[in-house]
Amino acid sequence: MMPEWMPQGFELFDTHAHLGDDGCPDEAEFYRRAEEAGVPWILLCGSDFDSSRRAAEFASHFDRVFFAAGLHPLDVVKHPCEVNSFEPFADAPRFAAVGEIGLDYYYERDTRPQQIEVFRASLELALRLDRPAIVHTRDVDGSTLAYDDAYALLSDFAHAGGQFVLHSFAGSIVEFERFAALGAYFGCGGMVTFRKADNIRALALRYSEDRLLLETDSPYLAPVPFRGKENHPEYLPWTAHALAALRGWSMQKTVSLTTSNAKRFFRIPPEDEKHE
Ligand SMILES: [Zn+2]
Repeated sequence: MMPEWMPQGFELFDTHAHLGDDGCPDEAEFYRRAEEAGVPWILLCGSDFDSSRRAAEFASHFDRVFFAAGLHPLDVVKHPCEVNSFEPFADAPRFAAVGEIGLDYYYERDTRPQQIEVFRASLELALRLDRPAIVHTRDVDGSTLAYDDAYALLSDFAHAGGQFVLHSFAGSIVEFERFAALGAYFGCGGMVTFRKADNIRALALRYSEDRLLLETDSPYLAPVPFRGKENHPEYLPWTAHALAALRGWSMQKTVSLTTSNAKRFFRIPPEDEKHE
């Protein structure tokens, strides 16, 4: 269902969605609901080999669904695999990025050396395949170690010509400035609607207009008024609405800006050029 404040004819791009552990029992219904809500563009993120394969399979059935393949830092030990085993995904027509990759020191303290090795190899893979990277970084409260380690690797990556998005970014303003100087894109999600998330809103006010992407991170982090429920790409309009109010933008501007940023980032050609 499209909320009445979604401008007709405008199309949102959910740049970060997961299918969940059980995959998606009814793909057509999942996509229909998103499309009807004004969210026909979706990037499905893998987090290990199996979920990357499921995302690739789903994307192969819908023109405006793309996928990323990669090993999430929380899966480095739980679902280990060789980073190079993701390379054949690049042959799929809807392969758009390497991800979700990164460092998570919040949940995992003992696997940091493995996380760093996998992240480094994954960024090398992104350079080799000439694709952008979708990056997750989370620190222990009060620490900047994960951001410092990520910065060192992403700095090399950016200087070698790599592009990346920090998805669901929740770092400090200082961290934001450092990564922004590397040309980072930033993913703004449902947290921007949370009552207590003033830090997320302070960041969302600073993102430059050409580096801002919208995402759900579904099935996690559903925006208000769906908070606590299973998230879905069809809830993205509520995040867009909150961002528009915060920045003082019209919905039209918010939708067209974030969707064109996403298409540029994922290098999706204009639809009228696709068949030439
Ligand atoms: Zn994610």
